[in-house]
Amino acid sequence: MLNAFEPRVVLQEVPGEVSLAWLVTGCPQACPGCHSRDSWDPQAGSPLTLNRLQWWLERYRGLLTCVLFFGGEWDRETLLVLLRHVRRQGLKTCLYSGRERVGQGLIAELDYLKTGPWRAELGGLDSRDTNQRLICLSTGESLNHHFWRPL
Ligand code: SF4
Repeated sequence: MLNAFEPRVVLQEVPGEVSLAWLVTGCPQACPGCHSRDSWDPQAGSPLTLNRLQWWLERYRGLLTCVLFFGGEWDRETLLVLLRHVRRQGLKTCLYSGRERVGQGLIAELDYLKTGPWRAELGGLDSRDTNQRLICLSTGESLNHHFWRPL
């Protein structure tokens, strides 16, 4: 079982998509300088059940194009169930992972994937020096440039 905080609708995290974003709790990466330390406790938030996910999908039906999970890859089987449920609704899927790579089973259920832990000295997706990559998996294209500010 994965827990998550209440979701938000976000417009920038997945370029071109209106995403329902879930911050999944229990991230084991322990990156120094993590902005989400309150999410490290796996008991924080409440269970991310299919019923709960579906309630939010119904609430924003017709508005959403994607569902984004910040984490959850450490419980692969649970995340797979959630991703498949999202896709059955005709929505795209995105995972923001703190790992350098995730397995093919998860990739098969994803449209977008962000990889790489937080490294303060390199910055996040808005940094041209970042170690993190946001990829559109259908094209293989890096979407990092959408986050860059003009030089
Ligand atoms: S992967 Fe993200 S949520 Fe997890 S510890 Fe690192 S910065 Fe925090």
